[in-house]
Amino acid sequence: MKLKVLGSSSRGNGYVIQDENEALIIEAGVSLAKAKQALDFNISKVAGVLISHSHCDHAKYSRDYQRVFDIFTHSHVIESNELVRATEILADKKFRIGNFNVYPIQAHHDVPCYAFHISHPKIGNLLFVTDSFMFDYSMSNLNHVMIECNYVDDIINFNVENNIIHPKVRDRVLMSHMELQTTIRTLSYQDLSKVDNIILLHLSGDNSDPELMKNTVIKKFGRPVAIAKPGLSISISINPF
Ligand SMILES: [Zn+2]
Repeated sequence: MKLKVLGSSSRGNGYVIQDENEALIIEAGVSLAKAKQALDFNISKVAGVLISHSHCDHAKYSRDYQRVFDIFTHSHVIESNELVRATEILADKKFRIGNFNVYPIQAHHDVPCYAFHISHPKIGNLLFVTDSFMFDYSMSNLNHVMIECNYVDDIINFNVENNIIHPKVRDRVLMSHMELQTTIRTLSYQDLSKVDNIILLHLSGDNSDPELMKNTVIKKFGRPVAIAKPGLSISISINPF
């Protein structure tokens, strides 16, 4: 299976995990047209759409998506977007979307938000964490990790000192998004022995340094690391042969 990134920032988030027979979409923050294009217009293979939380950059197009896909998300997303066809999911309650087994985990954001542990026979175990200033679980036997790496302390502090961003913006970011060292600490709690891909998500436009982040994580864990950006496509099959 392949992971395709449609967007991974405050401008819009969307990820497609797919092969020729089946697909799972994570987030509805990019247009339905772009999602259809990523699926080569084979929309019937989509088992469902997972949405982590209600913010625009993750759920803006959820009403469009519900016309063609089954959506699985937090009640807060369903209520705030007035979705009529979505299925409410609960933290720590496993469920199935096609051949994907999904386990929602409480994240720590400024609105209710879920991280996801996703299993599929073809990809193994994938951890997805975004828009969470911390993550307090340890997962064993992971094959892929998609994790937020939003900002770097030194960069955001420099930006405040130089009036590039308002101190109140920093205060909000600190309590809602994941800093590089928190990403590293969170990764160090996970069993990465079988992890093929670490994909860093949702980098801030002003407060990040993609090369520094990528190199710091590579140096620490010695695993392949990619920065999620529109157009990135990587194989996440556990047995590509
Ligand atoms: Zn958010």
